[in-house]
Amino acid sequence: MDEIRIPNDATYSPVSLTDLAVAAPLAARVLLGATLPGRMVQVAALGLYAGSVAKDWTARQGMRRIDFLAEYGSDVERLDAQPLAARRDEIARLGQLLNEGYVAERVPRPELAERVNRVLTDYIASVTGQRVETSSQIRNVTLASLVFPFAMGACDMLSGDVAIFRDTGIFEAHIITHEFVHRKGYWKELHAQALAYLALRNSDDPLLIQAARAERMHRQLRVVAGEDPEAFGEAVDHAGLRDELRDAFHALRPDPGAIQSFVSDGMKQVYDMRLKLTGQNGLSDYDEGFTNFLFTFAASPQARQPRMQARL
Ligand SMILES: [Zn+2]
Repeated sequence: MDEIRIPNDATYSPVSLTDLAVAAPLAARVLLGATLPGRMVQVAALGLYAGSVAKDWTARQGMRRIDFLAEYGSDVERLDAQPLAARRDEIARLGQLLNEGYVAERVPRPELAERVNRVLTDYIASVTGQRVETSSQIRNVTLASLVFPFAMGACDMLSGDVAIFRDTGIFEAHIITHEFVHRKGYWKELHAQALAYLALRNSDDPLLIQAARAERMHRQLRVVAGEDPEAFGEAVDHAGLRDELRDAFHALRPDPGAIQSFVSDGMKQVYDMRLKLTGQNGLSDYDEGFTNFLFTFAASPQARQPRMQARL
């Protein structure tokens, strides 16, 4: 099979090069009372960063991209609105499936990253006929976690550097896969949500299927409950989930600390605007758009991919 390899050199650096480039002069001033060493580190980091970005960009030129509209009959501008009753029905059925298929197994993050990367690479290759091999490296901390406290993870679109900020248990496999879709060169949020779901749900790994279903249910609950954290909590309580699952869903609720939610709300608006300026529908692509995508694909008469891929 056709294969391309994106080197992702920046992801193998022990410290995030972006962070080094931004924070090195400041750190040097605080620690050493001098700015020159900081500047030298900054320049070196920028050089390595630029080199890595250029290599990845060159490798990506040979990439065959998924045509979402042709394959799934749905894309950012082609989403049918799923009716509320269908959403509620999906929540009930997902809750049941999650209860019945509950997997308690926890896999260490580096191993989980290798596993989901393989499944994602296989899935994309099943659509395009081309394997896009990328790094499975992940960071636990970067400056981005301070700037986007509401996010679970982040991918630096240029370098492919991925950071996971929080331990979210059953959701983690989906969050890592979402960031890895970006790393493979798909920068739209709807595409990351959709491909992560389709890859995990159509794998034969119960742990990964659980993560896909949990994310779908989480996003449905967000649409039904709106922005209200209390309504979200109540919806979780009424979903009839077993204790372990219910706790995992409750843990997704944002920290209600005043300052944190103030920063969070402000950054959310900025981020929403950024998405809209880059040909996306906004933050809604994470939940409403994502669930509408699966709804549209499942009913699409012209999708090239089997519609059962969108099953619960
Ligand atoms: Zn994303």
